[in-house]
Amino acid sequence: MTLFAIVASMVALASPTAHGPIDVRCSPLPGHNLGMATPWDGYVTLAPEACQNVRRIIRHKAWAPNPDPYPGAKYVPYPRSLDPIVIQDGLFVLLHEAGHVGQWHDGYITHERGCEVVRGCELDASCRALAGMSYALRRLGYSPAVRQHAVRLTRQRIADPRAMPRRYVGKCPR
Ligand SMILES: [Zn+2]
Repeated sequence: MTLFAIVASMVALASPTAHGPIDVRCSPLPGHNLGMATPWDGYVTLAPEACQNVRRIIRHKAWAPNPDPYPGAKYVPYPRSLDPIVIQDGLFVLLHEAGHVGQWHDGYITHERGCEVVRGCELDASCRALAGMSYALRRLGYSPAVRQHAVRLTRQRIADPRAMPRRYVGKCPR
């Protein structure tokens, strides 16, 4: 799969959450940031490791290697072997940043009233990401069990104050 095809796939996965056209770029970011949104310009930037994780999910390689010495498949598409890091630091980051573009399209944030001054804005972006996750995985052909597993992990992560800074943490509406 070419980088162009990977980016086209990321755009397709993120568009519903972005509520419109979105451009995805892969580029190193300052600090330890995995993702950044520039909603008014309609694009998001993912750090190379986040891009790599999304790529693995797109290519159905977000699984543990098959422990069977005579494998029918190189990777095991079984929920328990799903690597949560790949989901959380890949697809979740993409959809969270796409959520900021969606907030922009909705008028929830504006250029003048950015996310940092809107109460609950980061949690809202994460909840938008959660809402878009099952769709994205279904589009990629993942089974209902895998999708439910990923959604459950993401919901737990959003509610866990040890996993994320305070303003990102909370409960999403069902
Ligand atoms: Zn954010």
